[in-house]
Amino acid sequence: MRVKCVICDKIESIDDHLPSTKKLRNRPIHTYMCEECHERISEKTEQRISTGQFFVYRSGKQKEWLQ
Ligand SMILES: [Zn+2]
Repeated sequence: MRVKCVICDKIESIDDHLPSTKKLRNRPIHTYMCEECHERISEKTEQRISTGQFFVYRSGKQKEWLQ
């Protein structure tokens, strides 16, 4: 089964027999995220949870912490 990552648009081929593929089949194809993006996002989420801090970048300014 061929899937496209929603974040980086990478097309990947995934094993049809994996339980995660079966789950994916029940949902629209555009919900797929490749391993790389998935890891990056879960890392960020974990960092946010552990620090409890969020920051944003605004054009021409230094990053601002939102607490
Ligand atoms: Zn991706």
